[in-house]
Amino acid sequence: MGNKLTTQILVAMVLGVVVGILFRESAAFLQPVGDVFIRLLKMIIVPLVFSSLVVGVVSLGSVQNLGRLGTRTFFYYLVTTIMAVLIGLIVVNFIKPGVDTVIDLSAFHSPPAFASSSDSVTFLSVIIDIVPQNIINAISAENMLGVIFFSIVFGSALLSLSAKGEVLKSTIEDFNDVFLKITDWIMKLSPIGVFALLAALVGQTGFSIFKPIAFYVAAVLLSLFIHLFFSLSGILLVVVRYSPITFFKKMFPAIAMAFSTDSSIATLPVTMDCLEKNVGVSKKVVGFITPLGATVNMDGTALYEAVAAVFIAQVVGIDLPITQQLIIMITAILASVGAAGIPSAGLVTMVIVLKSVNLPLEGIGILLAVDRILDMFRTTVNVISDSCGALVIARFEGEQFGADDTGF
Ligand code: ASP
Repeated sequence: MGNKLTTQILVAMVLGVVVGILFRESAAFLQPVGDVFIRLLKMIIVPLVFSSLVVGVVSLGSVQNLGRLGTRTFFYYLVTTIMAVLIGLIVVNFIKPGVDTVIDLSAFHSPPAFASSSDSVTFLSVIIDIVPQNIINAISAENMLGVIFFSIVFGSALLSLSAKGEVLKSTIEDFNDVFLKITDWIMKLSPIGVFALLAALVGQTGFSIFKPIAFYVAAVLLSLFIHLFFSLSGILLVVVRYSPITFFKKMFPAIAMAFSTDSSIATLPVTMDCLEKNVGVSKKVVGFITPLGATVNMDGTALYEAVAAVFIAQVVGIDLPITQQLIIMITAILASVGAAGIPSAGLVTMVIVLKSVNLPLEGIGILLAVDRILDMFRTTVNVISDSCGALVIARFEGEQFGADDTGF
């Protein structure tokens, strides 16, 4: 099924772009099809995340194992996100896309959404939101960090019940199987979803919006590619001993999904499916790492925020010293953790980064025009980093990944 689906998705992507170019605005009639597809994915997310995390935590066998896995995961996330931001900062300082650009910042007003989000998104609120005061509210508000926190606490408690919790454990495992089955069905529809989403997008935006800030777009894309093909591929080769090409092939449905939905969370069911079925990572690792990664590990977003902040500084003629760029690095990492895995979330948490070095929030106005397209690429990198993390942790847990494994 893996290869057939990959081919179908590839064909769907090409067809989507062609139909978008040919039909222009009229391709918008396909948007509802794409919307229904995203709704299907979203429908399954909370039950899937809850049941996978509980099954994942319970299968770890002890709270100590949970601690070990948690610590390793944290390190992987931190190291790869730092690498991503560093690459972004080096590239943007080298290309200098904002120097000598004639963009009148006063023409841009930051939209009200950003003004209010500047009050609501702070470091402290990111931390506090991890603990939901009402789990039902957390679910309906799509506060994934809250859902994850509750699931891990629930799983740990079930784990410590030992024999007494057996019935509940196997019931939740059964639920998990049901949700995975539904995911399978949704995946069969993915070529249609990808086709509709890309056709509507290309029809709506075309390619002309890039021109005025082409160098900025180029700086973000170049940095993302370097991170993908050097840092993450390097980690796969050196740490996991797994061919990046095989990895990209096996993860292709998730990559295509991230690219067309702009959402790590909406892609999550597909990411989990590819990791388990195509690569052969254990349910235990996938169930624990992937929901966490889709919510907090966002290399692409952190990189994007750092590049965008320095770009805005260049546009307004501020030469940021290294200390300020260090602050950008730290805040970009935190802002990426705070960004939900949904479209344009990174643009909203940009406020944290801009404020930290006193850059004008109106700068976000410049970024808006090309955000959709950059979101496609940064979300793809986010999902690839989450998946690569699952392989790294699985390898440290002593796992082998089937026939394609070139492991230790
Ligand atoms: N769309 C991204 C994601 O879901 C988040 C962002 O806007 O950077 O991973």
